[in-house]
Amino acid sequence: MASHETEAVVLKIFDHGESDKIITFFTSDFGKITAIAKGAKRSKKRFVGKLELFNHLQILIADNKFSSLFRVDEAELLNPFPPLRMDYERFVCSTLASELILNWTADHDQDENLFHLLTWTYGQLTKNAPKPTLLLFQLHLLTLLGFHLHLSSCSQCGAEVSISRNFSFFSPKNGVVCSTCFSLQEGQSANIPLSLGTIRLLEKARQLTIDKWPRLHFSKQSLKESIALFQSHNAFLLQRDILSWRELHSL
Ligand SMILES: [Zn+2]
Repeated sequence: MASHETEAVVLKIFDHGESDKIITFFTSDFGKITAIAKGAKRSKKRFVGKLELFNHLQILIADNKFSSLFRVDEAELLNPFPPLRMDYERFVCSTLASELILNWTADHDQDENLFHLLTWTYGQLTKNAPKPTLLLFQLHLLTLLGFHLHLSSCSQCGAEVSISRNFSFFSPKNGVVCSTCFSLQEGQSANIPLSLGTIRLLEKARQLTIDKWPRLHFSKQSLKESIALFQSHNAFLLQRDILSWRELHSL
């Protein structure tokens, strides 16, 4: 067995047997990994308060050539982000960010940019408006994964986004289409109507670095439209529903 030290966040955790815990981490050096913490349910010292959802840790792990399961030997708490557990809306948004990483990343696929985006987002979710923060996280996640949303003109005819036409988001095109082009699509899948304000806001957000996010303001309408857009686009791209989007809709 070889030991490795890495930064990690806790994405998922469950009890295993009498005394162990199984944890899915997103790590800076190994991407998403699953590890067993032996004796973690009983240990009063070694892991207490550390192996909890959203915690940002420094961990010492050992790999095993006979199994994909790592073993956690030590964990040091770097940031517990307490407000994420004390406010329901922050909790739902943080859970959704974790679920998006769980669904969008493959095991052992290292990506330091994604790791930085996730830890930075948890930090922002402790103090800034949760829904806009989560939506901006989602937008940048898609960009980092190679899905650059097409938002400045109709993805079909190229007509510039303006007040003179209605636009909606159309997942098969990974961008907006005008109402004329949408009516010509065969076997129409769901389209998400977007106001001009929402399209312009998302396009601006796409171009900003994450440190400029707090300057952006989402109206109630933009929040509602963006949540509908990302819920639907994730379901289209992943071919499965992420349940926390529904919870976010109802808040
Ligand atoms: Zn068009």
